[in-house]
Amino acid sequence: MIDETDIRPEKEHYFELLAQQVIKNLQKRKMNGQYVADRNQAVSAVLDMIPPGVVVARGDSLSLEQIGLLPEIIKRDRNKLIDPFRTDGDGHWTDTPEVRERMMRESFFADIMVTSTNAVTLDGKLVSIDGNGNRVAAMIYGPGKLILVAGVNKIVKDVNEALERIHGYAAGVNATRHLLKHNDEIFRDLPCVKTGGCVDCRHEWRICNYTVIIEGALPKHKGRIHVVLVGEELGI
Ligand code: SF4
Repeated sequence: MIDETDIRPEKEHYFELLAQQVIKNLQKRKMNGQYVADRNQAVSAVLDMIPPGVVVARGDSLSLEQIGLLPEIIKRDRNKLIDPFRTDGDGHWTDTPEVRERMMRESFFADIMVTSTNAVTLDGKLVSIDGNGNRVAAMIYGPGKLILVAGVNKIVKDVNEALERIHGYAAGVNATRHLLKHNDEIFRDLPCVKTGGCVDCRHEWRICNYTVIIEGALPKHKGRIHVVLVGEELGI
């Protein structure tokens, strides 16, 4: 007997088709992409791309936390991991602001950076917004290899839809995440946290100061960026 109420297979089919379209267009922009069905396959795919001995840096990314990549890198014990976003389990940052800042700068010289992007357009552009800028700056010209893990929920039609998604939803939810999970009171008064909507604010702790749209790479950087699209909802 079939379960008429379970449309997971239909959705998986739909999102895989979308992902294949994105991957084709990433390749036209000299970036690589691959589709994996779930978070376990995503972890395996990323680990396969990290050779022994290389230095790995991570950017702030809920998607990485959700797939459980970082514990696997640590457990495997083959790579130095630069992680400015370690917490003590109760949401407090493990390292002081000064140490975290230094690690963010060290990340530029890592061999590989793993993080996520805020949106992926159907025509293969990567749209990311930072408050601090460490992630998006390193994405552009930092480590020699950039591995991005993104759930299919981040696939959007175009850059306009990406920016609407980020300002209208992701930025506020991310700021609220840091408020609730990391005790970052600085974000409490952001308009998007208080009202759910973006007013293009000038708040001193505005979480979306740096907008980066990656549209491609020079031939010498062909394949530097690798996007793992996961057939699940991940991140914000
Ligand atoms: S501009 Fe201000 S209100 Fe809008 S998403 Fe960014 S921080 Fe929130």
